[in-house]
Amino acid sequence: MSMSNFVFEPAPVASLPVADSDARFPIARVFCLGRNYLWGDSSSAVREVPAFFMKPSTSVIDATGELDFPTQTEQFCHEIELVVAIGKDGFQISEAQALEHVWGYAAGLDLTRRDLQMAAKAVGNPWEPAKAFDGSAPMTPILPASRHGHPRQGAIWLAVNGVERQRSDLESQIWSVGEIISQLSHSIGLRAGDLIMTGTPPGVAALDAGDVITGGISGIGEFEVRIGSRRVQ
Ligand code: MN
Repeated sequence: MSMSNFVFEPAPVASLPVADSDARFPIARVFCLGRNYLWGDSSSAVREVPAFFMKPSTSVIDATGELDFPTQTEQFCHEIELVVAIGKDGFQISEAQALEHVWGYAAGLDLTRRDLQMAAKAVGNPWEPAKAFDGSAPMTPILPASRHGHPRQGAIWLAVNGVERQRSDLESQIWSVGEIISQLSHSIGLRAGDLIMTGTPPGVAALDAGDVITGGISGIGEFEVRIGSRRVQ
């Protein structure tokens, strides 16, 4: 007999593997930062207030094997991003203390139904249909900061079918990891298990069924995934 009074068995906690370990990192929430590298259409280097949105923890999957092609899109796009894994609760965290809250890092994909995002932007609707679908956040295993430190630079790149589409360096991020954690934690209390996707370099583009995506972040992790076929709709 169950000891709980839940009306049904709760779903297991979403998690990611820890690199070189049998341990797993339990995921609380996934926050995502909008523009955090200069793109070709950036008119100036003036920093706007960072724009955060969210994905559910259930959007996180291992960046291995075949990814489902989502429904309802003709513009299924890749965005390679540095992922920060929070290991310690905190509210109104100072920049100076921000990295004490980081448990580790991963390389991740902020997969986006761009056509749905553009349609939402046009009428001022929320972004969830574009950003929060199942499997929209494939990630590599989490590399513990206790063993590997906090990256300040390092190549971040993505290729499709062997052709490079995105390449930059973490030192080109507009907002540093410490600034992002501090800014976000002044809005909400961060919790151990939260993940933060820190924005993508220029070069985002659409994917087709059968495409092979390779990508990674130097010193953090690399992945290869294949895009599955479209569902009959
Ligand atoms: Mn993104």
